[in-house]
Amino acid sequence: MTILVDMDDTVEYLLKAWVKGANEQFHRNISYDDVLSWDVSAAYPGLTWEQVYSIPMQPGFWSTVEPIPGAAEALQRLMDSGHRVFIVTATPHESVPEKMHDVLFRYFPFLSWDQVIITGNKQMIKGDVLIDDGIHNLEGGDYIKILMTAPHNKNYDAEAHGMIRVHNWEEIEQVISNLAESM
Ligand SMILES: [Mg+2]
Repeated sequence: MTILVDMDDTVEYLLKAWVKGANEQFHRNISYDDVLSWDVSAAYPGLTWEQVYSIPMQPGFWSTVEPIPGAAEALQRLMDSGHRVFIVTATPHESVPEKMHDVLFRYFPFLSWDQVIITGNKQMIKGDVLIDDGIHNLEGGDYIKILMTAPHNKNYDAEAHGMIRVHNWEEIEQVISNLAESM
């Protein structure tokens, strides 16, 4: 299968690093689980969108982003078993060098640049499956939709929208293995 894999909050914890950075910089005490909207600034009343969204654009930010446990091992196993894996990330173009160097190729060194697709429109990408925490990236796509649980999507009825909800990489591997058998 061709497996498309989102980066932020699917293979690494962007949101955790973001909340930590915003709390430190703006003297807040917001927790990761308080971010109930895709718009992170909604969790920071009193701060502007520009203030909150400046955090991941700051130099050095991406070196504070940590991988999601099990993601690297699972991706490697999927590739070893013959699946084609592509990272598909919608990211501001300014973030690309640090994000690739400080996160993707640091924690996922077995991936190559040939396996990275940068796009703001994931529905244009062809694959059998997309694993993503962003509902708007799954809706309308011509792929099987696996929704990675994150605080901002936990109240969304994935099943009613034809998506398979997962909570960790163990579950993702199981879903992929079931899909591969049925294809
Ligand atoms: Mg994401």
